[in-house]
Amino acid sequence: MTSFKGILESRLLLIRRRRLFLVIGIAALLIAIVCLYAHLHLPVLPPGPAPDKLPLEGKKILIDAGHGGIDSGTNTKEGYLEKTVNLEMSIILKPRLEALGAKVLLSRESDVDLSGLAPDHPQRYRTDLANRVRWANDEEGDLLLSLHINSARDPQMRGAILLYHPKTPFTDQSKELAHTLQKELNSFYAHYAKEGEIYRHQPYGGDFFVLEYVKMPSVIVEMGFITNYQDRALFLKADFRNALAQKIADGVVKYINQELVKKTFFEWLWPRRGHLRDDSPGESAADMVFAPGQPVPIAQDHDCL
Ligand SMILES: [Zn+2]
Repeated sequence: MTSFKGILESRLLLIRRRRLFLVIGIAALLIAIVCLYAHLHLPVLPPGPAPDKLPLEGKKILIDAGHGGIDSGTNTKEGYLEKTVNLEMSIILKPRLEALGAKVLLSRESDVDLSGLAPDHPQRYRTDLANRVRWANDEEGDLLLSLHINSARDPQMRGAILLYHPKTPFTDQSKELAHTLQKELNSFYAHYAKEGEIYRHQPYGGDFFVLEYVKMPSVIVEMGFITNYQDRALFLKADFRNALAQKIADGVVKYINQELVKKTFFEWLWPRRGHLRDDSPGESAADMVFAPGQPVPIAQDHDCL
């Protein structure tokens, strides 16, 4: 006679078998769906980057040299001006990106502000920023790098900080660009920093005017701290400036490659979903670029922008 325990065990065994068959069945069904999808939609292999192309070929990169003219940006009592470093770094960075295949444009190539207004005009500063946005959107760049030098109350603070805007149609790409460049520049500054110094940073998302309105992935590169003695001394050295520019260019290549891999993968998986640029219609430059005297909604929580 079969015991109660025996009946229970045989039922448990039956339930386990059924579960196993169910799992195998679902797995087989999923594999069949993937195979059918692959057969109908996918090329044999996902397309990879062309090996004979320069890494930035076909890309238009915009460099915004922060400040200029009457607006010196952050400065020191000794007459060290942010606007001068920003312009110099922009001019140094341009040929490095061009050597990698990019078309590169600068927002300014001399010591001027972009407002076109008299220095004492009340809208001069904000019009200058708006015209940088107008310029970038008219040029339809693939990405924008706005170069700046930082300042802090703590003179120990040094190194680079990447800034992005957290709420634009391009935030995902901008954030990735910021993280990629931040990683590059943190490792770059490690060569110049001593144990215990504050040089390693995280990207920071904030309400920055230019980044909010440009229709492309964009970041502000705070390249170092004018308020830090070591950073200031380094920016006076051509070797350091050249190496920093090269590191920024290398970071851009890494970002573009990452985007290409993502685009290739998504296009392979789902041909119509992959995109490198978000071309969705947003607020037009004309909507936000203001005439002199017109009140401008601007949230300014950073000394540069
Ligand atoms: Zn600045």
